[in-house]
Amino acid sequence: MTEDEIVRTPETRPEEAELLLRLRQFVALRWVAVAGILVSVAAAQTIFQIRIALTPVLATSAAVAFCNLVFWLWVRSPERSNRYSRVFAHAQIITDLLGLTVLLHFTGGIENPFFLFYFLHVGLGTILLEPPDIHRVTALAIGLFAALVGAEYAGWLPHFQLGGFLPGELYHQPAYVVAVLVPFATTLSLVSAVATRMAAEVRRRREEQTQAKARELEQVRQQLDELDRMRTFFLALASHDLKTPLAVAVNYIQTIVDGYAGEVDPKQRRWLERSVVRLQEMLQLINDFLDVSQLDEARIAQELEPTCLSTIARQVVAEMAPRTRDKEVTLQADAPSDLPWVLGSPKRLHQLLVNLLDNGVKFTPKGGLITLTLAEEDDRVRVDVADTGAGIPANYLPHIFEDYFRVRRQEFIPGAGLGLSTARRIVEAHGGKIWVESPYRPDQTGSRFTFCLPKASVKEAGTLKVDANPSQGSPAKASVKNGDHD
Ligand code: ADP
Repeated sequence: MTEDEIVRTPETRPEEAELLLRLRQFVALRWVAVAGILVSVAAAQTIFQIRIALTPVLATSAAVAFCNLVFWLWVRSPERSNRYSRVFAHAQIITDLLGLTVLLHFTGGIENPFFLFYFLHVGLGTILLEPPDIHRVTALAIGLFAALVGAEYAGWLPHFQLGGFLPGELYHQPAYVVAVLVPFATTLSLVSAVATRMAAEVRRRREEQTQAKARELEQVRQQLDELDRMRTFFLALASHDLKTPLAVAVNYIQTIVDGYAGEVDPKQRRWLERSVVRLQEMLQLINDFLDVSQLDEARIAQELEPTCLSTIARQVVAEMAPRTRDKEVTLQADAPSDLPWVLGSPKRLHQLLVNLLDNGVKFTPKGGLITLTLAEEDDRVRVDVADTGAGIPANYLPHIFEDYFRVRRQEFIPGAGLGLSTARRIVEAHGGKIWVESPYRPDQTGSRFTFCLPKASVKEAGTLKVDANPSQGSPAKASVKNGDHD
């Protein structure tokens, strides 16, 4: 198990994650300790000629190794070790203290200088545990060592002499026993108290840092809320204070162009018509910005209903007539009326088709052809929008659905680079996919945008009462050429 796995386990608090990490490190350290015992015993016997009761020492080492194997298996299960991490920490420390006491007993008791290892265990305890538990562990260490020394002194436990190490039987001399036990207990208590204080200080500082971070995050959240409020305000402003006067101006100019305000000579008409075109482009730009800022999946999810894509396609084709007429291109549509319905937002799907067809018209030169084809494909409805324009250079294709992305061209074609990213968002919010092939024609021209949406399920379709288009069976064909559609 890696560090990340420990930290990322759900519902693990940061301090618990850290505790688990330490416990895992201690399991690794214990393997080293078991190896260390074996090496020390071998060195004591061979190098220093000290006689040690080998069998009980090896048996104790084997018992410690077995316990560590259990601990190791435990830390490998994130769920179990998460839930019982505190119990687990206590179990490890108590096992270590017991193991050390038993080993000391078989290796000279109070005469073995390795009793200093109690300091190590208490020190590790201050890392793992909170203050009341650290005091208990300190008391346990002092208690175990004192009990061992006392029991050997009183003769309740046999004494295992380290033959060839120390002269005489120090374990039985009261002055030596007191001279070791008293400094041992006081130093261990002091070390534990100081270490606890230091650990508490470190924790306090960390807590303060965490709180400071939380305050910073809260500030950022408030700033984001403020930005969101400003965005909403801007949207209201944009939609009312910018769009409305523009739309009114377009209407007025159009009225003049149509001759309702008196005679307009051809030169004036040309200038006025150009003004209308530029103002409409500006309106389109504002609409693009509004669309993209209002598009979010949750909002679209609320608008979903069984929808007939063919009906929407025919509407859009009809609406595009003035654009195709002005641009002198042909728009052909194949929208079968028996096409399966989809679960969608009619408003957004309308917008999606407008964006794709509008691009088709925009980027196809005079005399070109744009085709819209709707068809059933397995459990999906597939829509293709193909044109005979110049196509999109290969190096731009990977970015074509990104926000504000536009292909650099020699001629200026108005746009904000949001039409396709809006289209992608709409398709994805409907659980579908969109892609482009360009060039797709043998003469290395043309772009074909395709999107697929899942068909409405039988249950969803069961809610359909009225078919928007009663002419079942025969596929409807719509074609708009230079402004006429049939
Ligand atoms: P824009 O508002 O610029 O049209 P879009 O997101 O709709 O923004 O399109 C991004 C860019 O992709 C366009 O600027 C254009 O260069 C390219 N593009 C989109 N559709 C077509 C198409 N049918 N043919 C050629 N290029 C296209």
